[in-house]
Amino acid sequence: MWSNFEYIKPRTLGEALDLLSKYKKEAITYAGGTDVLVGMREGEIKPKYVIDIKGLPELNKIKSKNGHWSLGTLVTWSALMNSGTLKKRLPIFNEAAGVFGSPQIRNKATIGGNICTASPSCDLGPVLLVLDAELLVAGKRRKRTIPITKFFLKRKQTSLAKDEILTEIIVKLPPRDMAMAFLKHRRTGVDLAIVNVAVAVRAKKNKFESVKIALGGVAPTPIRAVKAEEELKGMECTDENIERAAQVASGETKPISDVRASAEYRKELAKVLVTRAIKSALQKMGG
Ligand SMILES: Cc1cc2nc3c(=O)[nH]c(=O)nc-3n(C[C@H](O)[C@H](O)[C@H](O)COP(=O)(O)OP(=O)(O)OC[C@H]3O[C@@H](n4cnc5c(N)ncnc54)[C@H](O)[C@@H]3O)c2cc1C
Repeated sequence: MWSNFEYIKPRTLGEALDLLSKYKKEAITYAGGTDVLVGMREGEIKPKYVIDIKGLPELNKIKSKNGHWSLGTLVTWSALMNSGTLKKRLPIFNEAAGVFGSPQIRNKATIGGNICTASPSCDLGPVLLVLDAELLVAGKRRKRTIPITKFFLKRKQTSLAKDEILTEIIVKLPPRDMAMAFLKHRRTGVDLAIVNVAVAVRAKKNKFESVKIALGGVAPTPIRAVKAEEELKGMECTDENIERAAQVASGETKPISDVRASAEYRKELAKVLVTRAIKSALQKMGG
């Protein structure tokens, strides 16, 4: 059920921050609108002021500098999918974008909006967790950096203040011997994940040097499976070791049953997807 609201389109980041600081809880930041509009239509959110930041050009760029990538938070999923340079050095973004929504949704939806919604199954969450991303945030009076591990607080809640805007996602260029994979299982072609998994693997001489594992859809927020990561450190890259670690990862999840799947199914799926994702990363290394 729609309620009345005023739509405002600021021309600069400063203007947008002034508006958010003025209207605070009465305002909502609007990027691609693919979550906001659904929430407003369902009557779950009833903002008095909708602040449309989509036109701010400074938040719309993908840049690489000094071994870091900066992804503007207004970058759309289509832009992420089509970025040739990103595809070469960080193909995991392309993999995630390839199974995100539909072309229409990808053309509108932004990467910043995806993590700010903080849905437990948001596709970017696990990817940023294995990349140890840092998030740059602007407020009217100060700027700050939030590590991705401190960003998701609970279901649909982040550590962003009401009058702050997420401006950039920073990821370090991974070492060349690190391989990554993203896998997602969903009910239909266009759907949120029942479970999604991202992994970043380093291995030498058939032994795991380090493995990062993150999952979505299995807890109130996207999570890192740290016990499973520990389990694999220094171990041989065998099917048996991978499957045992995947079982540990599944044990670290706390899923719920909902319209998409039962908790039991999610636990089983977590195990299967972690196993497949690690094997897929190893295959990319040629092993
Ligand atoms: C049909 C359909 C299919 C979908 N498929 C998927 C899918 O496959 N995977 C998936 O993960 N999601 C999916 N979604 C959910 C949604 O599209 C994504 O979460 C999307 O990335 C949200 O981006 P947006 O720009 O549209 O955000 P908006 O709707 O504009 O905003 C979302 C939230 O983030 C806040 N926000 C946005 N940008 C900023 C910012 N820069 N700083 C601070 N706060 C901000 C807003 O205030 C709001 O609370 C789907 C949605 C639909 C309708």
